[in-house]
Order: sequence, then C-alpha cells, then structure tokens
Amino acid sequence: MNITAPEMTISDRRAAILSRIDASTKGRANEAAVTLVAVSKVQPDARLKAMLSAGQTVFGENRVQEAVAHWGESFAAERARLTLHLIGPLQTNKAQEAVDFFDVIETLDREKLAKFIAKAAQASGKCPQLFVQVNTGEEPQKAGVMPADVDAFIKSARDVYDLPVTGLMCIPPADQAPSPHFIMLSQMAARNGLKDLSMGMSADFETACALGATHVRVGSALFGARA
Ligand SMILES: *Cc1c(COP(=O)(O)O)cnc(C)c1O
Repeated sequence: MNITAPEMTISDRRAAILSRIDASTKGRANEAAVTLVAVSKVQPDARLKAMLSAGQTVFGENRVQEAVAHWGESFAAERARLTLHLIGPLQTNKAQEAVDFFDVIETLDREKLAKFIAKAAQASGKCPQLFVQVNTGEEPQKAGVMPADVDAFIKSARDVYDLPVTGLMCIPPADQAPSPHFIMLSQMAARNGLKDLSMGMSADFETACALGATHVRVGSALFGARA
C-alpha cells in the first residue's frame, strides 16, 4: 500500500502507520510501546483537526511560537488532553515559554540551555520531561551533543542542574543509512540508564522501531507533504 497516496484520508494514513509500527516492533529486544509523535509543523489547521478527529493526542512541533499558535490558540480547547513535544532547537530566551507549554523537550543540547531550563522550571514549579539531542553524525550544521561528550553532559544535566532527563533523540545525516546512528543512540541510552529513544521519521521509522525506538517523529507520511 502506498501510504502517501493522495486519496487516503488522514485517518487512513494514521492507521496504516500505526500498523507498520506494530509490525516492525514485533520480536525486538525492547518490549516498550512506541509512541507516534505526529509532527504538525507547517501543517494547516484543517489537517490538524482531521488528525485530532482520528484520535491522535501526541504532537511534535519545531518552533515554540508555531506550537502556541496551533495548540494554545487554534486548538486551545484540546490542549489539556494532548501531549506536546518540542523537537526543534530551543533558544535560551524561549526557555521559560517552552517549559511552561510543552510536556516533553527533545532538544536539550548544551549546558547553557540546561541552566536556563532549570531556572525556568524553578520559576514554574514544574519541568517537562527532557531528552538530550545527540549529533550522532557529528555534522557541523546540526544541533546536538557530540557522541564523545554525551555521558558527561547527561551526568551534569542530572547532577548539577537536577533535570529530569529520560531519553535521547537523534536526526541521522540525510545521506547515510540510519541504522548505525540508531544503534549508537540506543547504546548511549542503555549505558546511561535512559529508557526513551526518539528516533525515526517518515522515511525510516520502521528501521528505528526494529532497533528499539520508543518515540517516532512522523510528519509528511502522516499529514501529507508540508507546504
Ligand atoms: C520535521 C521533523 C520531523 C518529521 O519529518 P518527516 O520526514 O516529515 O516525517 C521529525 N523530526 C524532526 C526533528 C523534524 O524537524
């Protein structure tokens, strides 16, 4: 079945992706369930509405401002029953807003941000769940902690800033096979006692599921191409 066929409804696409997730997690070592994070960046409200109607409650956004426009304004009435993930880079001057608005921030990637999130969490009296973004491909243009620095960074986020780090996230280089990156991320999580692994997007979520993902971030294959 071609899941990007235009005649398929959003609800059909979601069902097809959920069943592919199911099929690709059968028999893997990690028996944890996989959460489908529907990446709603740049999608029109009509598609977000269709996704909500299909039963989706977990969404990922790249930018704080756009997330607030979608889930704090257009669909504010739904916010309380949703789980929202920030999956794009976070500037320190938006840390307070992100801490107040999101349930999960997947892009903790530097000490200065850890410091600002800790300060914001203290002011709010609550902190989102945090994943550390790892630059597994060591690409200069990409965010994320370098692999060699990951263990020390996680330790400092936990011990120095007392942050609730529960997982890791990566975006493999576009021009490489993703599997080695997913395996590397999974090994880093295991040796640091982290249970959550956010890896896999539209093109490679099944590979990620087979290699232990607990969260897949799927945008275009679910909603249709972004404008
Ligand atoms: C846009 C985005 C996705 C979703 O990408 P698709 O290829 O449309 O599934 C996943 N993760 C991150 C970090 C993104 O920015």
